[in-house]
Amino acid sequence: MDFALHQTYTEEQERFRKEVRSWLEQNIPEGMKNPLDPRDFTIEMYWFWREKHKELGKKGWLYPTYSKEYGGGGMTAEQAIIIQEEFTRARAHGSFSSSQAFPTLLVWATEEQKQKFLKPLLTGEKVNWQKLTEPHSGSDLADYQSRAVRDGDDWLLSGSNIFIGDQEDADMMIGPMLTDPNAPRHRNLGYFVIPIPSPGLTINVLKLLEYGRKKRAIFMDNVRVPGDHLIGGDHQGWQVLGTHLEAEHGGRGRLFPRDAVVDNLMEYVKDTKRDGKSLGSDPVLQQVTMDAYIEARVDALLGQRTYWMYDNRMDMQGASDVSNVHGRLSGLRNIIRAREVMEMYSLLDTYDPRAPHGGIQEVRQRAEAGQHHIGGSNNISKVILARRIGISRTQERAAPTPSTATTFSS
Ligand SMILES: Cc1cc2nc3c(=O)[nH]c(=O)nc-3n(C[C@H](O)[C@H](O)[C@H](O)COP(=O)(O)OP(=O)(O)OC[C@H]3O[C@@H](n4cnc5c(N)ncnc54)[C@H](O)[C@@H]3O)c2cc1C
Repeated sequence: MDFALHQTYTEEQERFRKEVRSWLEQNIPEGMKNPLDPRDFTIEMYWFWREKHKELGKKGWLYPTYSKEYGGGGMTAEQAIIIQEEFTRARAHGSFSSSQAFPTLLVWATEEQKQKFLKPLLTGEKVNWQKLTEPHSGSDLADYQSRAVRDGDDWLLSGSNIFIGDQEDADMMIGPMLTDPNAPRHRNLGYFVIPIPSPGLTINVLKLLEYGRKKRAIFMDNVRVPGDHLIGGDHQGWQVLGTHLEAEHGGRGRLFPRDAVVDNLMEYVKDTKRDGKSLGSDPVLQQVTMDAYIEARVDALLGQRTYWMYDNRMDMQGASDVSNVHGRLSGLRNIIRAREVMEMYSLLDTYDPRAPHGGIQEVRQRAEAGQHHIGGSNNISKVILARRIGISRTQERAAPTPSTATTFSS
C-alpha cells in the first residue's frame, strides 16, 4: 500500500490498466454508461449492468480483493485501485449489492453458507440488500423488534423495516431479527438471510428526496426461511451484526477516496474568468477553495490509512470512526464551499446547458443531504468513537473483521 496521493504504478500494473481500459471500451455502449444524474439511470441500464457484472465477476474485477475461493479476484489493492480508476473513467456501474454483509459472512458463516450465499454475490450472479433499520429506530439496533420464531428446522419471520434496498430488485436481504424476547439485550438476536421473493414478504417503494437509490419499506408476515439461513448462533446475532456494522461504519477504509467535488471545484476556479482574471486569483474564493482542497486531502489520507490498517490486520480502535465521521462531515462542508464559490451555477442541474461540469455539483448537493444518516448517523459514529477511545460511560472494542477484502462504491 502506497500512501502517495498520486500513486505510481509498475509496468506490469500499467499493462493491467490497458487490459481493463480496452475491455471496458469494447463492452460498454455509450447509452449504458452511468448517467451524471442517477435519476437518469434506467431499468434497461439496470438489467444491462446486472448481466455485465456477471462477466466482470468471472474476470475477478467485480470484487477484486476478495479471495477466488469465494468468487472474488484474489487481486492486490493496487490492482483494485486501477480497476476503480478505469471504472470511473469509463462511467461503469459498480455492483448493486450491499457489501457490508460480505465480511460478515466471511467471519461468521459456515463453509457451506459461504458457498451458498457469499459466492453468488461476489460473482455478480445475485444481489443483496442490507436489512437493518426498523421504523421505531435505526440507531438503537440492539432494540430490534422484528421477530424470528422457530418452526421445526425453519424460522418464521415477522416485522418491518424502512430505508431498505438500492436499485430495481435483489435476490436476498441480510440482517438481524429478535429470536428471544426473554433473553438480555445483546444476547437476543439472530442474523438471517431472507430470500426475495418469499411468501409473506411485501416490498413497497418509499418516496424520498431523489439521490439515485430506491429505498423500500418492507413487511414480513410469517416469512418462512430454512434453518441454514441463520448465520451464527440463534443468540449471537448482535455479535454477527458487529462485524456488519464495522463495515457499515467505514471499517474497511477507502481504497479510492472520493474528491470529485473538489477536483471539479479546482478546475472551475482555474478556468472561470471574472473581469479577465481567474476566480482562483480572488483572495476570498482562493481561501475557501484551499480549505476544500486541504479537507479533501486529509480525508483521502484518513480513508487510505484505514484501509491500510484493515488490510494489515492492525488494531483499529476508533481509527475507522475518525475517518468515517470526517469523511461525511467534510463532504458536506466541501459541497457548501463549492456552492459559495460557484454560486447559482452550482444549482443548475444536468438538464441545463449552462451547468458547469454537466451539472454534477447539483447532483452531489442532493446526494450529500442524506449523508448524516446513511450507514448509521454521524452522532452514533461519534458515540462509538468515544467508547473506543475510553472517554464514555461504557467501553467498546471493535468487532472481529476478516481483514481480507475491501470494496468501493458504485
Ligand atoms: C440515504 C439513506 C440510505 C439508507 N440505507 C439503508 C439501508 O440500505 N438499509 C438500512 O437498513 N437502513 C438504511 N438507512 C437508514 C439509516 O441507517 C438510519 O436512518 C440511521 O441508522 C438512523 O436511524 P433513524 O433514521 O431511525 O434515526 P433515529 O435512530 O431515530 O435517530 C434520530 C436522531 O437521533 C440521534 N441519536 C439517536 N441515538 C443517539 C445517541 N445515543 N446519541 C446521540 N444521538 C443519537 C441520531 O443521530 C439521529 O440524528 C438509510 C438512510 C438513508 C438516509
